[in-house]
Amino acid sequence: MAETTIPVDEPTAFRLTLRLHFETPVNIGGYGAPTFVDRPFRRDRNGWPFIPASSLKGRLRHECERLVRALGYRVCRGPNPREMCRGGDDVCPICRIWGSPWIAGNIYPADLVLERPPGLGETAPPSDIRYNVSLSRRRRVAEEARLFTTELFLPGIPLTFSGVWEARLSLRELVLVEAGLGAITALGRGKTGGLGWCTIRVQTEAWSQGDWHPVTAADRAEGRAAW
Ligand SMILES: [Zn+2]
Repeated sequence: MAETTIPVDEPTAFRLTLRLHFETPVNIGGYGAPTFVDRPFRRDRNGWPFIPASSLKGRLRHECERLVRALGYRVCRGPNPREMCRGGDDVCPICRIWGSPWIAGNIYPADLVLERPPGLGETAPPSDIRYNVSLSRRRRVAEEARLFTTELFLPGIPLTFSGVWEARLSLRELVLVEAGLGAITALGRGKTGGLGWCTIRVQTEAWSQGDWHPVTAADRAEGRAAW
């Protein structure tokens, strides 16, 4: 495969193939699920769970922000739109990638859909319900305790969700996004209770000379050095 040179600080078209693998049961909250559950998981029209682009995008933006602050860069204060970057020359590294209410981002997240190996069957298997007791945060008294239910998808086999995101980033920005993906160890509700533990693998290709080429370890080293 031909060696490519990706500019460190100029935008390049990238294609990120994401595969998210859950090690514990998961609940990504949302609508369109049975109403008899307090905390249903998000599902598509056919009943299969999926990971909405907006869920992973929000989480990933947060991880990138944490990393950039740790590197000593200034980042605007979301989520209050009045305190976020408005464009011009003074846009923080996070809004450059993810956008703000005033400027467009340069990464285009897509839903991650469940990979369905033959063992999973053709129709979505029934979900399980987990019971928890919630205490009122305001008054921690027994009378205010309430039993609530969380819906879990437990098909009995490991779950992998995948999708392709496109982006127009500098190499420097790309390595930050990849680092953010690597920093995500759990997704969805009940993380402290052990739900939604996951690992995310990403394969990234850059568009160059009329074709997609894998981003190499050497490319990534250059991108990291630019921070
Ligand atoms: Zn900003």
